[in-house]
Amino acid sequence: MEDNTKKIVMIVVTVACLLLAGTVLLRSCSTGGAGIDTEQLGKQKLWILCANCHHTFQWTKNELNEWMSEHDDMFPSVTSGNPGIKCPECGKQACFFGYKCPECGTFYFPGQIKGEYRDTCPKCRYSKMKEIGKKYQD
Ligand SMILES: [Zn+2]
Ligand SMILES: [Zn+2]
Repeated sequence: MEDNTKKIVMIVVTVACLLLAGTVLLRSCSTGGAGIDTEQLGKQKLWILCANCHHTFQWTKNELNEWMSEHDDMFPSVTSGNPGIKCPECGKQACFFGYKCPECGTFYFPGQIKGEYRDTCPKCRYSKMKEIGKKYQD
């Protein structure tokens, strides 16, 4: 009799543990809305510009993350002094993350104009950061 009781207790405990684990899993899945966001963020396209031949192309954030994980997590920024991404056009490691101006279509590297927002267009001075800043000020 005693052995049977022990067995039942063990089964009950095991089932309880499984149920608990199940709820924890379900919970982490349902609150994992952030997972969807990171997926969408990963598909966001970024502009990459070649400082040598001015070739421009787009990478998704995922592609950039992949490249960075292969290159000691160095962000390919023109102001950081890090080596850039290899250019598919001229073959030089001179491609860095950049912007395309939504106003005049100019491609440019961030942080080129001193005293201005990092994303200021050198041609028409449009800056998305400035626009967002204005919205908050109003
Ligand atoms: Zn190039
Ligand atoms: Zn512009």
